[in-house]
Amino acid sequence: MIVVIKPTATEQEILATSKNIEALGLKAVKIEGTERTVLAAVGEERVAGIGSLASNPGVDEVLPIVAPYKLASRELKPEPTTSTTGSLVCGNGNIGVIAGPCSIESEEQLISSAHAVKAAGASAIRGGAFKPRTSPYSFQGMKEDGLKLLAQAREETGLAVVTEVVSPDDVQLVAEYADVLQIGARNMQNYRLLEAVGKATRTVLLKRGPSATINEWLLAAEYVLDGGNPNVILCERGIRTFESHTRFTLPLATIAFVQQKTHLPIIIDPSHGTGHTHLVPSMSRAAIAAGADGLIVEVHPNPDKALSDGFQSLTFQQFEDMMVGCRKIADALGCQLGSG
Ligand code: PEP
Ligand code: MN
Repeated sequence: MIVVIKPTATEQEILATSKNIEALGLKAVKIEGTERTVLAAVGEERVAGIGSLASNPGVDEVLPIVAPYKLASRELKPEPTTSTTGSLVCGNGNIGVIAGPCSIESEEQLISSAHAVKAAGASAIRGGAFKPRTSPYSFQGMKEDGLKLLAQAREETGLAVVTEVVSPDDVQLVAEYADVLQIGARNMQNYRLLEAVGKATRTVLLKRGPSATINEWLLAAEYVLDGGNPNVILCERGIRTFESHTRFTLPLATIAFVQQKTHLPIIIDPSHGTGHTHLVPSMSRAAIAAGADGLIVEVHPNPDKALSDGFQSLTFQQFEDMMVGCRKIADALGCQLGSG
């Protein structure tokens, strides 16, 4: 339920209503928007006595949240959320650009990538240290040594660091080095992992599972929000369909649809979404034109030699050219692309 607070309510009245919500066995979460302050009463909605909250001093009205996800919903927070993590800003006209290799392979590979993507205007460096690979025989990542290189990349460039965490046991370690914890597509419904990052004090980049509906994806985001972490960025990275000309099918209608349903920012991954280097620049421009709050793109100094996903990675030059094209679209929309 949404308990809408009167503009004239005192802090004491708001506190008293929060306590009444908690006395009903629900969680009270205060959300201060530009238009109004509300208390979200989160939990099982059919509890007896919830209607009585409407007569609390300082309460304007009590409304149901129709969406199955509550904290993520636009009903609760009508204004879009801007996610700011150091140099990475997504939402409300800010198009964050996360770029870098699929996997961290060496110091030279990661650090040169960080400098190149920064020079082209990216806002964050990506790189997988813990890789969820389809085959157990594929490269599994440099693990903590890779995380150390990411920290070095941040030190040298000032870019925020985005990297994947694949297990609840690793959340603490990865959070020591990373600014943004990526939950990969394969783990979108790993609920223990979602709970673990919900307790972390790092931004969470939540990729859509290739077979997940938008409702399932937003409920996965709800796990993180309900765990106490308000900083979630959604990432559409393509879904599995009968089509085989691309690695996955990249539905850009997701952007506009999701923006109606949730206040959380949404970014697009055209690298995994298409699986082809040559499709990445056009899909990036299209994503920005459709209103995406950011991009995550794979970039490698030598894609032919990459240990993972070289076939969908851009060279430094291709990334620079892509950013020039994207900037034209962003400028036309009055948006800020990457670090400018
Ligand atoms: C990745 O970002 O390299 C990755 C493994 O992505 P996804 O989880 O979308 O497959
Ligand atoms: Mn990849």
